[in-house]
Amino acid sequence: MIPFEDACRLVLEQARPLPACTVELSHADGLCLSEDIRAPFDLPRFDSTAVDGFAVRVSDVKLASSAKPVSLPITRTIRAGVHCEHELMPAAAWRVLTGAPVPGSVEAVVMKEFATVERNIVSISRSVKPGENIRRAGEEYQAGQSVLARGTRISPTVIGLLANLGITQVPVFQSPRVTIIITGDELRAAGSELGPGLIYDSNSPALAAACARLGVAQCEIARCPDELKPTVDALRAAIASSEIVVTVGGASVGDYDFVGAALRELAARLLYTSVAIKPGKPNLFATVEHFGRTVLLFGLPGNPVSALLSFHLLIRPAIHSLLGATGVEPITVLARLSTELRKKPGRLEFVRVQLRREGPQWSAAPTSGQESHMLSGLAAADGLLRFPAESVYLAAGTDVEVELLSW
Ligand code: AMP
Ligand code: MG
Repeated sequence: MIPFEDACRLVLEQARPLPACTVELSHADGLCLSEDIRAPFDLPRFDSTAVDGFAVRVSDVKLASSAKPVSLPITRTIRAGVHCEHELMPAAAWRVLTGAPVPGSVEAVVMKEFATVERNIVSISRSVKPGENIRRAGEEYQAGQSVLARGTRISPTVIGLLANLGITQVPVFQSPRVTIIITGDELRAAGSELGPGLIYDSNSPALAAACARLGVAQCEIARCPDELKPTVDALRAAIASSEIVVTVGGASVGDYDFVGAALRELAARLLYTSVAIKPGKPNLFATVEHFGRTVLLFGLPGNPVSALLSFHLLIRPAIHSLLGATGVEPITVLARLSTELRKKPGRLEFVRVQLRREGPQWSAAPTSGQESHMLSGLAAADGLLRFPAESVYLAAGTDVEVELLSW
């Protein structure tokens, strides 16, 4: 049994970013940039008005007030998308609409709320500062400046930013292919008949959803009975077509647990077979070389909470590494423990907690259903509280760090 930190290190040592490729902008969500992105031009590209109103020279409206408005003739109207070759003459105003490009002679824009128009004369009831209500060319980025760093996870906002720069082909790290092998003679897929002693497989739908959220390219589900040969065959097939293979169940040392034996038969390099965490103690990690590719093999315990939390704690960071993601560390909040907690020493326990706002601070309450077969306790949780391996007691009112759960 190895400490959790050692298990994380062993996994991350093996999880390197996959080769880079280029994808269409519309397919980039969830992937990570394989190169820094620089602005190909100034952003904004030209000076423009930020509001609907009247373009003026500052000195013309210096004395304007609601008591003594300044009147100026409106000599032109410009709207978004229409380039104007002309310059604004002194003692005149232009009607401008949001997004309209403005030449250098427009020193400021008065919002239309501070103007009244009669025939073609505008009365302005406020003075303006130079540059007021004008978006300046290059004020966000100048041509050549770095906009997004390699490793940035592509989100809808990043997609907007890339489109803003005119980029349609996005350099990204390839996304891993994952195969999940479900073991267990007692399991049936939801929707089918359940005979006596049988249960529904909750792990494959849950893990497939978690993989989809992480942006994995492809997630295949395979099933095999609790026998050595089918387990070896399923693993061999999965290794040929995946960067990450996850078995669920059969990871312990019971008479019907074959994952460890199958990995040995495949001459996989076993890096750990048990981690000092609760839930999730039987947990395997191995690698196999397949035609120059390193395939990561994870053996998760079958209990649903153990399986999902092991995925969250050990496989999710590995997927992030293969995707080349940076800056994806979990967010933690400081909270006050609502009730005392006790446990035996030896394993780091991940207590599922709900966060509640109590005045200026957060309170963390363990959810009901902390057993490893009770998904309800995990479903209700906002975060995880780490109850250290050697600790046996946490008093109510202790300040604890809670790691927000994010799938
Ligand atoms: P195992 O790790 O195979 O010893 O399984 C531990 C417990 O988890 C047993 O009660 C199994 O029936 C249950 N289990 C295993 N796999 C699944 C699954 N895919 N969905 C729901 N329960 C499972
Ligand atoms: Mg089993």
